[in-house]
Amino acid sequence: MNEPSPMILTVRNAPPLSSSNAFELGRRFSVIDSSKLCYIAYMIVYEFKLKGKEFQFRIVDEIIRTAQFVRNMALRYWVDNRNIKLYDLNKYCAVLAKQFEWAKKLNSQARQASAERVAFAIQRFFANCKANKPGKKGYPQFQKNNRSVEYKTTGWKLAEDRKHITLTDGFGAGEFKLIGTWDLHFYQTEQIKRVRVIRRADGYYAQFCIDAERRIESVPVKHNVGIDVGLTDFYTDSDGNKVDNPRHLRKSEKALKRHQRRVSKKKKGSINRKKAIKRLARKHLKVSRQRQDFAVKLARCVVHSNDVVAYEDLRVQNMVKNRRLAKSISDAGWSQFFEWLQYFGLVFGKIVIAVPPHYTSQECSQCGKIVKKALSERTHVCQCGCILDRDENAAINILAKGLKQYPGALENLNASGQTNLCLASESLLSKLTG
Ligand SMILES: [Zn+2]
Repeated sequence: MNEPSPMILTVRNAPPLSSSNAFELGRRFSVIDSSKLCYIAYMIVYEFKLKGKEFQFRIVDEIIRTAQFVRNMALRYWVDNRNIKLYDLNKYCAVLAKQFEWAKKLNSQARQASAERVAFAIQRFFANCKANKPGKKGYPQFQKNNRSVEYKTTGWKLAEDRKHITLTDGFGAGEFKLIGTWDLHFYQTEQIKRVRVIRRADGYYAQFCIDAERRIESVPVKHNVGIDVGLTDFYTDSDGNKVDNPRHLRKSEKALKRHQRRVSKKKKGSINRKKAIKRLARKHLKVSRQRQDFAVKLARCVVHSNDVVAYEDLRVQNMVKNRRLAKSISDAGWSQFFEWLQYFGLVFGKIVIAVPPHYTSQECSQCGKIVKKALSERTHVCQCGCILDRDENAAINILAKGLKQYPGALENLNASGQTNLCLASESLLSKLTG
């Protein structure tokens, strides 16, 4: 019951997006090149809940199933013909449409988008192999539980009032009302590059991916911070501040576990089990929204009140392999938090640096000596007289490493301070998924 990736924004370096490379198959950003800050273009996503008749949603289900069919057929085609070019997958979509009556009903660009998802999965798989990434390389899988369909610039139509959308392809799903507080009047229809229809535990949603770019000025605050995430607190910073997971989140995570137990107690295949699974799915959605909300607000606050933010690149995937730590790490949602840190770094034109993890907790932040300590030792005590909270010591080291990694970070920041980018207000962002 994985929620879709939290990465709802795609960021690319120059040149600006064109309709063909827009969304570039969901590429993520990782390295921030401060010299290019003023050229970064990105997409913003507005989400609305769809209101329509029951029979319309059954048609949407059919559309989503068809998208999955096209995706899986394209994957099968690649598995059988491993030497084909990824572009051939696009052409194969047209072949499918000729072969299968119902596949033809799906908008041609939506068919291509499904095939592109396969191409992206294949690319990622090869990239992982090439980089010799530890653990699973992510061989592209056949999809059993697809929950969304993606249209590009055709196959849908916005009503004059911008509060209704009609799916215009062969399925004839008709018009849906858009429930949400966003105002699409602000944008030209041509700026909407993708429309994604998603099924969730509590209904159907439409996401509008809009190509937009704007610049604003921001003033350096002359403060830098290092962040050490931990198991006891959500994080500790280099000033000794500790932030914990909010209480409501901990509470609903507990409730989530309760719902999980309830499901496992019910007899397999029974109606009660089905009901319990539905309730569990709704709870999952709630928790993931709360978690997202927390990550967005916290990341915004951290980036906004600092010029340079350094955090430890935990390679969360590697750590999760350690079973004992796994549960708490997956729950903590750090990688999500880091992604938002990176994103707000772009928005506010601040420097956000991922530091490789290496002795950050063992090294003395004052004299640089290695002071070995077990995980249970919470205080750093060094011969040089430095006595610090263990995590604070680590956070100071992380900041120092970050600044060393980007020696020009501060000058660059001041130089680019005039050309920062900002698109959406953060309250808008937190609402996006909530
Ligand atoms: Zn020392």
